[in-house]
Amino acid sequence: NKWVYTFGDGKAEGKASLRDLLGGKGANLAEMANLGLPVPPGFTIPTSVCTYFYANDKTYPKELQAQVDKALDYIGKLTAKKFGDAANPLLVSVRSGGRASMPGMMDTVLNLGLNDETVEALAQLSGDRRFAFDSYRRFITMYSDVVLGFEHHHFEDILDSFKDQKGYSLDTDLSSEDWEMLVGKYKDAVAHETGKDFPQDPHDQLWGAIGAVFSSWMNARAVTYRRLHDIPESWGTAVNVQAMVFGNMGETSATGVAFTRNPSTGESKLYGEFLINAQGEDVVAGIRTPQDITEDARVESGSDKPSMETAMPDAFNELTRIYTLLEKHYRDMQDMEFTVERGKLWMLQTRSGKRTAKAALRIAVELAHEGLISQNDAVLRIDPASLDQLLHPTIDPSAKRDVVATGLPASPGAASGEIVFSSDEATKLQADGRKVILVRIETSPEDIHGMHAAEGILTTRGGMTSHAAVVARGMGKPCVSGCGTIRVDYGRGTMSIGGRTFKTGDVITIDGSVGQVLAGRMPMIEPELSGEFGTLMGWADAVRETGVRVNADTPEDARTAIKFGAEGIGLCRTEHMFFEETRIRTVREMILSEDEQERRAALAKLLPMQRADFVELFEIMKGLPVTIRLLDPPLHEFLPHTQAEVEEVARAMNTDPRRLADRARELSEFNPMLGFRGCRLAIAYPEIAEMQARAIFEAAVEAEKRTGEAVGLEVMVPLIATKAEFDLVKASIDAMAREVIRETGAKLEYQVGTMIELPRAVLMAGQIAEAAEFFSFGTNDLTQTTYGISRDDAGSFLGAYVAKGILEIDPFISIDREGVGELVKIGVERGRATRPSLKVGICGEHGGDPASIAFCHQVGMNYVSCSPYRVPIARLAAAQAAL
Ligand code: ADP
Ligand code: MG
Ligand code: MG
Repeated sequence: NKWVYTFGDGKAEGKASLRDLLGGKGANLAEMANLGLPVPPGFTIPTSVCTYFYANDKTYPKELQAQVDKALDYIGKLTAKKFGDAANPLLVSVRSGGRASMPGMMDTVLNLGLNDETVEALAQLSGDRRFAFDSYRRFITMYSDVVLGFEHHHFEDILDSFKDQKGYSLDTDLSSEDWEMLVGKYKDAVAHETGKDFPQDPHDQLWGAIGAVFSSWMNARAVTYRRLHDIPESWGTAVNVQAMVFGNMGETSATGVAFTRNPSTGESKLYGEFLINAQGEDVVAGIRTPQDITEDARVESGSDKPSMETAMPDAFNELTRIYTLLEKHYRDMQDMEFTVERGKLWMLQTRSGKRTAKAALRIAVELAHEGLISQNDAVLRIDPASLDQLLHPTIDPSAKRDVVATGLPASPGAASGEIVFSSDEATKLQADGRKVILVRIETSPEDIHGMHAAEGILTTRGGMTSHAAVVARGMGKPCVSGCGTIRVDYGRGTMSIGGRTFKTGDVITIDGSVGQVLAGRMPMIEPELSGEFGTLMGWADAVRETGVRVNADTPEDARTAIKFGAEGIGLCRTEHMFFEETRIRTVREMILSEDEQERRAALAKLLPMQRADFVELFEIMKGLPVTIRLLDPPLHEFLPHTQAEVEEVARAMNTDPRRLADRARELSEFNPMLGFRGCRLAIAYPEIAEMQARAIFEAAVEAEKRTGEAVGLEVMVPLIATKAEFDLVKASIDAMAREVIRETGAKLEYQVGTMIELPRAVLMAGQIAEAAEFFSFGTNDLTQTTYGISRDDAGSFLGAYVAKGILEIDPFISIDREGVGELVKIGVERGRATRPSLKVGICGEHGGDPASIAFCHQVGMNYVSCSPYRVPIARLAAAQAAL
């Protein structure tokens, strides 16, 4: 069995495609060696040894030791040194590296092989005693920390008290004698604390380090990280052992990191930092301020320290040659580590670099323009969810943040404004042209107008799928939810966190992308929708097969969605129009009416308002399909809550408030979501559906008159369980259409279809499709009714389900393919068996979730419909599903 893979000197036993076996670091070191790049020779002990290690009581395969010894000899030959030799010692680094890079794994140990003897040899050979002892003390520190569990700070303490005693301020003030003396103290401390002398035998050191890497695979931090990122335990880690090169050999030596393109902007320019006379992690550790690599960058940063380009021109030119080659080879932006030893450049790592969403777009588009990747590759390279970052204003990254509290990043983007604690206040101030942040303990449907008026929403209670979170995402407004450390006092009009108190009118900023609440107003950066974004979305649309519509209730939503490329409205929830502050009273009059006549009187007042809403929507959508859903929510949600509200309605209706309060009690429900809602409203009170149908048809006639374009009208009946329900409601819609046609003399084209959101509707889809001309899967309700879980109450236990692995992911966020998805499939099949031309779509939160969109593509839906700000995400996700 092969347990060791060597690399170095222009060739390697491994290669990039063996990543699963060699880990990312090892596979790329091998690849670079094969490309003939200067890589210090070394070898990789593959992940298969890690698997063996855990399957066999933490022991190694018996051939391993011999193979490691052989590989050490091989490195020795290439470097003309010998591991453990007293006169000419080979020193190595030991580095962990799995398939995916993973914090929590053992840190790298550098300079392994040094001991009291070999340090003298290193001093002799380098002619630099200070360098030798500096390397030795680094080794003792790192090895003790990561292998022996004797923490770093012990050494820092020894060093600091020594510096105090001598009156030194910088590490560079220490002489070789000082380091030599400190090395002695370091070793004493280790012996004293661990009860054993610091290991002097290089082979013991090496096996100690190898064992520590494999053991770290199971440490608590690594286990947690894997669980959070879905990395299987079976992957294991690899160990890389590599000949040392020294960046700390004086002024002609250095160490650094570089990106082939700028990871925050994507600009195609080498970007990075380096430090002269330093080793390994000094650059990231921030001990000294690193220097710029290119002269351009130095000029821009205004640094007075020379760039690598001027300080080490030969090494810089070599780096330029190599990074250009690496990027062409990997066809992606690379993140590289390098070291210069006495003027010679060595490559120590390369990998695809992490980048911001903005940089990812620019890089993908430019790589395609440069011909390195195809347009489809570019489309596949962007994580659809990451687009969210680009569509909202964000806080200027250079601004200083005064974070006062942290909650959940419920809806991305940032906003500043004056604090208001009620939705009415929000509406009032907004009307005066002021910008406000609505702060509530939690929100309910009655806060819709306040949420619309606010720049952003902050709640102290509720999770990522709370009312505030869902509605804010739908509106594309930033929201921080569940900020439990904040105490809101509505009475006083204050909110307090720890010792700080903010009152109505104080300005705060919320950053919904990270969940922060900040004091004061922050400078913002506006999103950029043209440029690379537009180009990439164009490429995505060219391959996409699934349509993308929007869930839009207001003209504002519709306009935003058109800007983002929506191809129609898949769901217009008419109830959101009902919740508007000025209308809710009339709605209450309507539902609290005791007889049909009273109800018709209230409905007559609502008719012109609804009609006006629809006219505007139709005009904006210019002939694109618009699906309007009849009133759906439980009447319960519209009931007045407070005495004041009851009295207000009573006044308007000219009745006794007590009578009204009784009626409200009568209508209140224990289980509103399974109660008097959906088509049940249209069946019990046909005049509601009639009014809505009239408003819709009259608006369509009006809009067509104004724009000269026919409206793509689709009327949708919610919460159907039986065909008989649908037939009844459809008959009244059709009757109303005939009436409006007769009255106006206009031609009207429209379709009547249904939501499929109850398991019974799925099962009866074949029958229902005889009458329904389209289906729209309401997977929020379908998930609720399939699982028997109420979304509003699931917060208290869903977390435990996910934590215990019963559910992989919240089924309200990503569709449950196995269960709910199976129902969707059955519904599509049965529906199309009856009516092959049946148009099928999805609305609800899943329509904006990339994984769910891929599923919709697979089952052959005609379109998905999602909230305005998710339209670009859906376009990209649908394109990726088609590729
Ligand atoms: P990480 O995965 O945390 O980046 P690495 O194993 O890449 O850990 O190494 C940490 C630091 O040590 C890097 O700066 C790397 O360049 C440096 N380093 C690793 N091996 C060697 C070596 N053989 N010679 C010189 N420097 C090395
Ligand atoms: Mg590294
Ligand atoms: Mg529904």
